[in-house]
Amino acid sequence: MTISFIDLKAQQEQIKPQIEAAIARVLAHGKYILGPEVSELEAQLAEFCGARFALTCASGTDALLLALMAKGIGPGDAVFVPSFTFVATAEVVVLLNATPVFVDVDVDTFLMDVQSLKAAVETAGKQGLTPKAVIPVDLFGQPADYVQIQEIADTFELIVVGDAAQSFGATRAGKRVGTLAPITATSFYPPKPLGCYGDGGAAFTDDETVIDLLRSLRVHGQGSNKYDNVRIGINGRMDTMQAAILLEKLSIFEDEIAARQRVADRYNDALADIAQTPVVAAGSSSVWAQYTIRLKNRAHVAAQLKESGVPTAIYYPIPLHHQAAYQGFPTAPGGLPVSEQLAGEVLSLPMHPYLNEKTQEAIIEALKSICLTPIKKRNT
Ligand SMILES: *Cc1c(COP(=O)(O)O)cnc(C)c1O
Repeated sequence: MTISFIDLKAQQEQIKPQIEAAIARVLAHGKYILGPEVSELEAQLAEFCGARFALTCASGTDALLLALMAKGIGPGDAVFVPSFTFVATAEVVVLLNATPVFVDVDVDTFLMDVQSLKAAVETAGKQGLTPKAVIPVDLFGQPADYVQIQEIADTFELIVVGDAAQSFGATRAGKRVGTLAPITATSFYPPKPLGCYGDGGAAFTDDETVIDLLRSLRVHGQGSNKYDNVRIGINGRMDTMQAAILLEKLSIFEDEIAARQRVADRYNDALADIAQTPVVAAGSSSVWAQYTIRLKNRAHVAAQLKESGVPTAIYYPIPLHHQAAYQGFPTAPGGLPVSEQLAGEVLSLPMHPYLNEKTQEAIIEALKSICLTPIKKRNT
């Protein structure tokens, strides 16, 4: 039996004829850029999450970049980001010549630590920066604590841009991702919970001024027409082909979210005694972009699992404030001990909606036999 970490083939088999027909329709009408599927997808994405507006774009990174551009982030501005995240969260800040300030995360949920955020905002001002925005990250599929973060944002007049690249479809306090922050960015990179067959992303907002700016920025800062350029923008459009594929994938996404939860539940039940299993905040749901456990002896367990044919991954082995390109930027006072600890302990297990019980049982058995043996030895 070969075990996939993420099985995109199994998903394709569910909807292969529909995907082929959707691609054929695009080839027939030939509107490869901003064709009808793009606006149809934007309408369906907005409806899916309950946001007033959705704007598709070329990637999750572009969605974040466009959001910051729409808010005029630039030199001298401090933008608060977690260190324990994918590099794009901080990269877009640097691309706009603003300063990322790294904030620690909570040891249980892996989400931005609001105390660390507050302390970082208070010290940024003393370092001559203007605290301007915060990018909470919905790491591994569950939404950040937007209620508490918004309170801090209100106090210090920060703009909140949600990095929901891993969490589209998840909820917090009964609201879906896309409506939890004034602007939300997501990604449709293939292995994300909702992925296309290439790069893609989207931004969500209820604010009409913001959506107008995003639309203009996505196409070179255009004004009333293509050759009227009123601001500096980018070429950040999603291809019609990707939109057509995503429309078909969106039609089975609710079922896939439920299937992901069943897989997570089975892991939770089986692994609670042998590893630190993921913690989802009360009142939240996760779409399980990753199922990530914590282990003190990670290197040993990962190597043994590999030998048993179980693929694993480490998200993320080096926190951003230790990366060569980012180590010069400020961090929250007191440092980022949790981000550093997690980087040494986390291990992500195979997770996708089509992980069947038999395969999952094999993964669990392999993990149990590796973890239980040394622990028992140590105790006697
Ligand atoms: C994937 C990801 C991004 C970037 O999305 P792309 O579509 O690959 O550009 C940004 N932030 C986080 C947290 C991600 O996981």
